[in-house]
Amino acid sequence: MQYNVVNFGRTIVLRQVFGWQHPITLIQGEEAMNKAKQIINAYAVLEAGGQFEPFSYETGELGPNEVEIDVLYCGICHSDLSMIENEWGLSQYPLVAGHEVIGKVSAKGSEVQNLEQGTTVGLGWHSGYCGHCNSCKTGDQNLCAEAQPTIVAHHGGFADKVRADASSVIVIPEGIDLKSAGPLLCGGVTVFNPLVQFDVKSTDNVAVIGIGGLGHMALQFLNAWGCKVTAFTSSESKRSEALNMGAHNTLNSRDQGEIESATGSFDFIISTVNVKLDWNLYLSTLKPKGRLHFVGATLEPLDIEVFSLIMGQKSISGSPVGSPITIEMMLEFARLHKVKPQIELYPMSKINEAFDHLKSGKAKYRIVLSNE
Ligand code: NAP
Ligand code: ZN
Ligand code: ZN
Repeated sequence: MQYNVVNFGRTIVLRQVFGWQHPITLIQGEEAMNKAKQIINAYAVLEAGGQFEPFSYETGELGPNEVEIDVLYCGICHSDLSMIENEWGLSQYPLVAGHEVIGKVSAKGSEVQNLEQGTTVGLGWHSGYCGHCNSCKTGDQNLCAEAQPTIVAHHGGFADKVRADASSVIVIPEGIDLKSAGPLLCGGVTVFNPLVQFDVKSTDNVAVIGIGGLGHMALQFLNAWGCKVTAFTSSESKRSEALNMGAHNTLNSRDQGEIESATGSFDFIISTVNVKLDWNLYLSTLKPKGRLHFVGATLEPLDIEVFSLIMGQKSISGSPVGSPITIEMMLEFARLHKVKPQIELYPMSKINEAFDHLKSGKAKYRIVLSNE
């Protein structure tokens, strides 16, 4: 007997860039009928680059360490777009994207201690960690090789409900605006985490390349952190807005002359773009001992002149999102310093229009889907 809208009669093992390697055995037939049935109504893309379509799937019993979240809002990150288009070669279809979730706990497993039904929570890129590797034990769960990404071999937040391991579910503090909070759970922590990891100082001169979803939050965080902030943008129309969001200066990210005007200026540069830029030119804008840090998923290999690194003792690095404790720290910082994503709200049912808007490059600055 077919029990479901989509028949998943197989075991999938994924062991790629994101290192996910728990096999999921998806049950079907009578066995499934005997479990407590729960239908989740979502929007899924059925093939690479396809449109979102209504899609329902059945879950089994909630695991002892899992929670189920009623989704109120879910931000759209550029990584959702990369996943639905299978740019990273990781996607499995039907694909329910969405990993900037704000919602309320609707059910919890028997072992879950720290969350109650009705608690307002957030869920970001990860929806579970192995819990026993070195990274997990030292508080770097976002570096766990077996971490479960929310939208890789797992259904995400473009839905009425989403499930996750409680260890990855973050309580949203009072005083945070819920409509705009979703983007903090992925984009926000991704640009906040490097400030913590690399001890960025309030006296540092920091640049952000790309003022989109991540970049506009980076400007706000860096300004509140006390830094001198430069926004590199390729969009002339964003210059004045970048100044309002916390930049002290703006430069054109594709204009050689403007980039050269900043030679030897920065202690730290965060790149949020997903395209290739003239990285050697950007390295020349670093002070000695400066760092060019990538959070944007630029797919083209870096073509770096090593002498620029050697002579100035400069560094190049990258990082993924942030650990649960860093997300909590970031939310508290955002609440205190009034860091708030600037959002455009769409009803969840208008998900295809929302993605067209993101693809047009005109989103200012983060699109959020609402179930309300
Ligand atoms: P987004 O909102 O689309 O912003 C990207 C920005 O890059 C654009 O707003 C634009 O800024 C700039 N840009 C785009 N095309 C460009 C071009 N041809 N030349 C120069 N600049 C260009 O995307 P997002 O959601 O912020 O995500 C940014 C990247 O971070 C994506 O690759 C995403 O997958 C990745 N990401 C990584 C992590 C992580 O854990 N490391 C987490 C979340 C997202 P201007 O208009 O200012 O030029
Ligand atoms: Zn993301
Ligand atoms: Zn681990």
